[in-house]
Amino acid sequence: MIGSFRDNKRVRRLFIKTFGCKVNYSESVEFIGLAQSAGFNASELTGSRLPDDDTTAGAPVVIVNSCCVTAEAERKALQFVRRIRREYPRALILLTGCGARHEGIRRQYAEAGARPFAFFSQALDWLNGQADIHGGPEAATDQSSHGPAHGRARTFIKVQDGCTCRCSYCIIPDVRPYYSRRPDAIINEVRKRLDAGYRELVLTGVNIGHFGRAPWHADPRGETPSERWDVCRLIDAVLAELPVDARLRLSSIEPEDATAELLELYTRPGLCAHLHMPLQSGSEPVLQAMRRQYTAEQYARIVADFRRCCPDGALTTDILVGYPTESAGDFQATLDLCTELGFERVHGFPYSPRPGTPAALLNPLPRPEVIDRNRRLIEHTRALAAGRWQRFVGRQALVLVEECSATGWTGHGEAYQIVCGGPPGLDEQIGRLIPVRLEACDGAGFTGRLI
Ligand code: SF4
Repeated sequence: MIGSFRDNKRVRRLFIKTFGCKVNYSESVEFIGLAQSAGFNASELTGSRLPDDDTTAGAPVVIVNSCCVTAEAERKALQFVRRIRREYPRALILLTGCGARHEGIRRQYAEAGARPFAFFSQALDWLNGQADIHGGPEAATDQSSHGPAHGRARTFIKVQDGCTCRCSYCIIPDVRPYYSRRPDAIINEVRKRLDAGYRELVLTGVNIGHFGRAPWHADPRGETPSERWDVCRLIDAVLAELPVDARLRLSSIEPEDATAELLELYTRPGLCAHLHMPLQSGSEPVLQAMRRQYTAEQYARIVADFRRCCPDGALTTDILVGYPTESAGDFQATLDLCTELGFERVHGFPYSPRPGTPAALLNPLPRPEVIDRNRRLIEHTRALAAGRWQRFVGRQALVLVEECSATGWTGHGEAYQIVCGGPPGLDEQIGRLIPVRLEACDGAGFTGRLI
C-alpha cells in the first residue's frame, strides 16, 4: 500500500538511499541540493536504518534511487523497500533510478509500497504538490551542508547519461535517457564543488566516452555548444580548473574509448593514476556474443599503453561471469587474461538474465556453476592483486581522508589504494588530501603513517 502525505502532518525529513553505480550517487547528491532548496531537510542515508530522532518527529520521506543492472542490485533495493515499509509504516517511500523506468521491475516496487517516478524532477514536483509537506522552519537546511564535512568526502559530477552500445546482457540503454551535459554546466559544477571544499572530483556517466557524442541536454536558453567536444577535451578543461591541492578521477572508461589521446592525459598532474576499464570476459567468442566492441587482444594493448603513460597507475575492471555461452575453456581464458594483465582490483559479477535483453533469450548456465566460477575468479584475482599492490609499500601516497573512527582514519590514495592508519581525531581532515607513507599491505588494503 502506498501512503499519502495527507496522512502525515509533520513531514520533516527526506532521506535518499542509493543503489548501483556512481551515476546514481551523483544524481542523489544533485537531488539532495534541489530538495534542500525546495525546503526539505534532505540527506543521504548511508546505512540501512533511519536515525532514531527523525522517526519520532514526523513521517519521513525515503527516496530509493534504484539500480537494475544486475538481479542482485535489484534484489537489494527491493529488500530495502520492504524493510523500510515494515519498520517505518508511516514513511513515504518513493522510487527513482533505473528500476523506476522499467515497467516489469517497477511493478514489484509498487507492490512493496514504493511510489515510482521515472525522474527526480517528477518526484520533487509530486512532493511539492503535497499538503503538509514541510514540518516548519526547522525543516529547511543551509546549502552549506552540501560540503564534504557533512557527506561523502569525494564528489561525483555527472557528465552524460545513457548508452547506445546495446551489449547483449544490458538493460541500461532501455532505462536511461541519452544525453551529454553541456560543458559550461559541468565546469560551473566543478567550480562550485571546489568552492564547497571538495578535493577529489569524480567524473561519472553511464558511458563517459559518449560525452559530446550523445545529444546535448536541453538548455533552458536553447543554446548548444558551437564547438566540438569530446571526453578528452572535457577532462583537459576540468584539469585546468583544479588547484594544486585537488585531483580528478575518472569513474570508468570503456575500452573502445581508451584512445591514445585519453591515455596521454594520465601524464598530466591532477588526474588520479587509476583506470577502471570493464573487461567482462577474456574470451573472444564470449566478447563477441556479448556484443562488446573490442577484442581481448585490443584490451591487452590498451593496458600496455596505459602502463607506459602511467607506470604508477592502478588498473581495475568488471568481469561478468557465467554468460550463457561461456564454456569452461572461455572461463579459463578469462582467468588467464587476468593473470597476464595483473589487475589491481576485479569486480566479478555472476551473470543473471535481465528480462528484455537478447541474452535473456539464451539458456542460462546452471546457477551453482555460475556462482562457483565467480568465486574462483574472485579468489584468483585477489591473489594476483595482492602481489600487484606490494610495489606501493614503502612509498608515499596522497590519501583522501574519508572516514574517521575511534581508532583512526581510512581513505583512498591516488591509485585507489585503500589506506587506513592512526591517529584518531582527524575528523576535521575528512575530505582533505594528506601525505601518507604506505607501510604494509595485507593484500586488499594498506596501513599508512602520516608524513
Ligand atoms: S557499454 Fe554495454 S554494459 Fe555498459 S551501459 Fe552500455 S550497453 Fe550497458
